[in-house]
Amino acid sequence: MNPQQADGVWPCEAGCASPEPGVPDHDRPSADASDGAGVESRGGGNGVEVVVDHELCSRAAYCQGRYPAVFEVVGDYAEVRADVAWSDIDRALLEETARGCPWMAIEVTATRDPA
Ligand code: SF4
Repeated sequence: MNPQQADGVWPCEAGCASPEPGVPDHDRPSADASDGAGVESRGGGNGVEVVVDHELCSRAAYCQGRYPAVFEVVGDYAEVRADVAWSDIDRALLEETARGCPWMAIEVTATRDPA
């Protein structure tokens, strides 16, 4: 497990310790819908929706390391896994993972699922 920094942000698995976009050692590919990955990845259930913005994602895989049951880096971007067991989701860990994304590419929102 990575040590938490004082500001509540964990460093990337790949070594990027900055939560700020634009640091030189943290290359970010350009999102390109033509590569088959789309410009975002989303999933959700059980009252929560998760979106990864591929225009922001750096593929550094912090999210995958922190919550591999939800996030997986495929090619150039993190994806919300298709096999997430949303009924078992740890909402606190999910939100913590989103806050720790160094590029702020993960959005977690509450939804009202149909009964
Ligand atoms: S979503 Fe965030 S933490 Fe996950 S790979 Fe992309 S930039 Fe890194």
